[in-house]
Amino acid sequence: MLRRSLIKGLGVWTLSATLVGTAGVATRASEDAGTRDATAPVTAPHRPAPLVTTTSTTAAPAPRPKAAPAPVAPPPPPAPEPAPSVVDVATDAVGYAMSLVRAVVPARWLAAVPVQISVIPGNTSWSSYGGLIELGDWHLFDKESRARFTIAHEWGHQAAWVFGPDTYDGEPPRGFPYGGPDPAEQWADCVGQALTGYSYPSHGLGGCSGDALSFTSGWLAAGPR
Ligand SMILES: [Zn+2]
Repeated sequence: MLRRSLIKGLGVWTLSATLVGTAGVATRASEDAGTRDATAPVTAPHRPAPLVTTTSTTAAPAPRPKAAPAPVAPPPPPAPEPAPSVVDVATDAVGYAMSLVRAVVPARWLAAVPVQISVIPGNTSWSSYGGLIELGDWHLFDKESRARFTIAHEWGHQAAWVFGPDTYDGEPPRGFPYGGPDPAEQWADCVGQALTGYSYPSHGLGGCSGDALSFTSGWLAAGPR
């Protein structure tokens, strides 16, 4: 989702509850259609544990020491677990998110369009002009495929700001073949799908497909220019 920055001097869009619900339904439909899920565990074939053989020896036992054993101090009580720190959790969340950024955005593109991550509560994520991506924690932690797609989607907004004609906010690069109601969000969905292979359509737009997906994949493959 786009968040128009103070630099741009424009307003802020909000996501309605209706759209959230629609996105959830579309997501489930997408999963039912066979979207890959990188979080699915791979079950290794079961292998029996190797047999362990023991060998007894007939050596005589060592003589017991004559000295009296030192008194054994009682074990100290276990140290209490440190209380969870909000700062630490936030740092880990950002580190995790940045590792996914580096995993989904090719390095040369990330060098051309760098981003900063902030993790915020909720199920809405935002991009602000200038590189800031605010990731809703539900997007980040629901499952890795959704986190990857959302990050790629938001990075797509950042790329549009840098490389698009910018006659309106978030305008896709020239030639993006889409005539629907929300080109900026459709473009971001296409970037998300092209970079990750996953599809979590936003704003009730439906998935990216056909010419739009082909254009986006080709545009990304060509690299920054
Ligand atoms: Zn968006």
